Amino acid sequence: MDMHPEFSHWVSQSGDIVDVSETWLSFARDNGWDIDTKNVVGHHWTEYVKCAEVRKLYEQLMDHVRSTGQPARLHYRCDSPEQKRFHQMKIAWDRRRSVYEFRNRILETEDLKNKINLTAAQGGAEDDAFDMCSWCKKVKTPDGEWVNIEDMLASLEAQGQEFTGEVNHDACPDCLATLNTSVAP
Ligand SMILES: [Zn+2]
Repeated sequence: MDMHPEFSHWVSQSGDIVDVSETWLSFARDNGWDIDTKNVVGHHWTEYVKCAEVRKLYEQLMDHVRSTGQPARLHYRCDSPEQKRFHQMKIAWDRRRSVYEFRNRILETEDLKNKINLTAAQGGAEDDAFDMCSWCKKVKTPDGEWVNIEDMLASLEAQGQEFTGEVNHDACPDCLATLNTSVAP
């Protein structure tokens, strides 16, 4: 038995989601999204990616994959409330069906020591906002340094503070560099 099944979605050249796999739907439901095929298919993929910077990177990757015919692979982190999860994504252009294929797989998980509830953290004051990298989940400290969210939480805890800020999704310099390299001609 495979503990981490692959989950896939397919996107048309114009960016509409045309299909999702059963495993994709169960992954979404496991993440607490109230979702089924009817309310995903036909929607534009950008509706599910909030950060403009990340959308731009996806667009570049998709163009690159389609124009070269070479699939792109990337790694990113997307946690559940209980676990750190390291994902691998492969984007390929299916010339025959004229669709992009996104195949995801969780490579590794690690239990989180402290549960991080980012949904509950939404809605904090404007100046409490944290920038979080959408790819590796590092957060930017007030000093402009990018650190693991666990380290950020530990240091806040040490100061008797709680993580209450709003989260802005962004890309850290390391991930930007990696992503730009993977789309370079
Ligand atoms: Zn990053």
